[in-house]
Parts: sequence; structure tokens; C-alpha cells
Amino acid sequence: MPAPPAFPACTSASSQVLRVGVVGFGCFGQFLAGHLSRTNHVFVTSIDEQVCGMAAELSCTWVPWGRAVTEMLTIARVDVLIIATSIVSFASVVSELPFDLLRSAQPLIVDVLSVKEYPRGVLLREMPAQCDILCTHPMFGPSSGRGSWEGLRFVFDEVRISNAGRARSFLSFFELAGCAMVPMSCAQHDQQAASTQFLTHLTGRVLAEQACEPTPIDTVGYQNLCAVKDNVCKDSFDLFYGLFKYNQCSLDQLRRFRDSLSAVEAQLMERMQKESGERPRSRGAAGRPSAAHGRRRGARLVRRRSRDCKRASRRWQGALGA
Ligand code: NAP
Repeated sequence: MPAPPAFPACTSASSQVLRVGVVGFGCFGQFLAGHLSRTNHVFVTSIDEQVCGMAAELSCTWVPWGRAVTEMLTIARVDVLIIATSIVSFASVVSELPFDLLRSAQPLIVDVLSVKEYPRGVLLREMPAQCDILCTHPMFGPSSGRGSWEGLRFVFDEVRISNAGRARSFLSFFELAGCAMVPMSCAQHDQQAASTQFLTHLTGRVLAEQACEPTPIDTVGYQNLCAVKDNVCKDSFDLFYGLFKYNQCSLDQLRRFRDSLSAVEAQLMERMQKESGERPRSRGAAGRPSAAHGRRRGARLVRRRSRDCKRASRRWQGALGA
């Protein structure tokens, strides 16, 4: 695997303590805020008031949802505003922000969505020109980033930055935590994430459909499959749907997955067809099927499988509205 491109070394501004607002305090928002609060002042909010108790536990200050961003900008005077809500709610959360205040307070706006072209477009369209925009994707979460962050990848695109010191200071938090910093365009991220992250989530969800569970005779390979399923299914379905709907490359990846399954199936059926055509069966002469019979039977099986595949494909396309 190629090494991530070098990230420019920290400047003296990098150790600056920041005032950070986190909008969206779900699974990932809590994980991120809890880490950021070790060296920064962190203010958090969520549409779900029930999680407010978690704020103090994570050394963060809770701000009630209704006027949260207004208070974060005027009272807490945050330098950085991170939007960590679900992908599917991102545009509506952004549309509710107090744009006049943003224009005067001019914070750095950061998104952490697992897709990148989509938030980039929304932020460029909606955010006042006075606000800097940094699109990021930490390629880890509460499970994979439970321990050290050493070597975990942090993808970012400095979409619109005028205050370079502040952006660098924010990024250096992740660099100092040991992350491998990967500067990358949002478009390139989505291309690569569809064939890596979305593929992993898709595989895990397919395995969950198969009720892939431990047995007394598990091989290590099978245990690894179960682990993929378990990890992926800990994330919300909203996240999985967001990875699919808001990354233009994901539908193509899903189709390649289905086609690859058909191709592997065809390889097996062809081999079976070949064998039944070549090898005489050991039954008595009277009931023995001829080689031609075997070939016809194999061909019938292949045709039937291919019909099943086409039907399944039509169902997928119907479901996706494609
Ligand atoms: P998620 O299901 O993607 O998002 C859950 C959060 O979004 C919760 O705080 C939820 O509040 C909030 N939310 C949902 N609908 C909302 C709405 N209409 N208005 C306001 N808030 C709403 O799960 P997540 O794992 O916490 O991910 C959060 C973000 O981080 C996503 O954009 C994801 O792509 C990104 N991310 C996640 C990971 C990861 O490992 N999980 C890693 C990197 C980046 P409620 O609890 O009230 O529903």
C-alpha cells in the first residue's frame, strides 16, 4: 500500500488551544469531542437532549440544541465549528445555521462526513464567503480508534482557507495524536472510499443478511468475516445509507459487487458443466446419462442461474429507482 503523502510539519501555532463547537453528539460526535476536550475547550450540542449527561463525562460543555450555534458563536466564541451529524441530515442542519452571525464571527467550518463531495458542495453553496471550510474524514471511529490513533488515516481537503494558522492548528491535533495525515481532494476521496469503505460496509451488511454467526468449528477466515459484519452493524443504518446515496461512486461499486458474484458463480457452473460432459458417470449402461446429456443439464443450470441473476438485478434496480 503506498504511504500517505507527507503532511507539512507543525508550525508554532500548532499547539494553540482552540475553542471548538461540535454540532451532532451521537456516536462519532461523542468520540471526537471526548478526544478534542483533552487539550481544547469543547462545546457540544445534539438534537437528542438525552445525551446531554455525556457532555460532562467527556469534559465538554453542553449547549441546548435550539440556539446552540448562536450561543457557541456569541458566548463560547468558538474558533472552529465541527458538523458531526448524520450524512442524511447534513444539508438540513446546515440550512438552519445563523448565517449573519457566521458572517461576523468567521469560524473555521469543519465537516467529518464519511462522504466528501457532497458536504463540500453544500458548504461552498451555503456558507458565507467569510467562513473558512475544511472538509475532513477521519478514517476511524469509536471501535477502530478506541486505543491509540497511531497510523490511523485522517483525510482532509482545505477547500477554502484564509486563516492558514488556525486550520493548521486544528489539523495538528490529529497529527500530534499520531494520525497519518492524508491531504486529498474530495472527489478522489469518494472514488477511493467507494471501493474500500463502502465495499466493507456492503459486505458486512450482506453477511448480516446471511445471519453470519459464530459456530463451534469457525476457521480464522470465518471469524474475520464475522468481525467485519459485527463492526459494520454497530454503525447506524443512516450511516450506511449515507455512504450509498451521497457518494456518486457507490452505486457502481454495488453493481460491480453483484456482477462479481455472478462471475464467480458462472466459473463454478462452467467447471461443473465441463466435468459432467467429460467424465462418464459410473451408473449402469441402461441409466447412464450421455456426455451430451450432461452438457445440456449443465447449460440448463447456467441458464437458470443467469435468469435468477437478471431477476435479482431488476429487483435491485427497482428498489434503487435506477
Ligand atoms: P450517524 O447516524 O451518521 O449520525 C448520528 C448523529 O446525527 C446523531 O447525533 C443524531 O442525532 C444526528 N442526527 C440525525 N438526524 C438528525 C437531524 N435531522 N438533525 C440533527 N441531527 C441529526 O452516526 P455517527 O456514527 O455518529 O456519525 C456522525 C457523522 O460522523 C456522520 O456524518 C459520519 O459519516 C461521520 N463519521 C462517522 C464515523 C464512525 O466511525 N461512526 C467515522 C468518521 C466519520 P440523534 O441521536 O438524535 O438521532
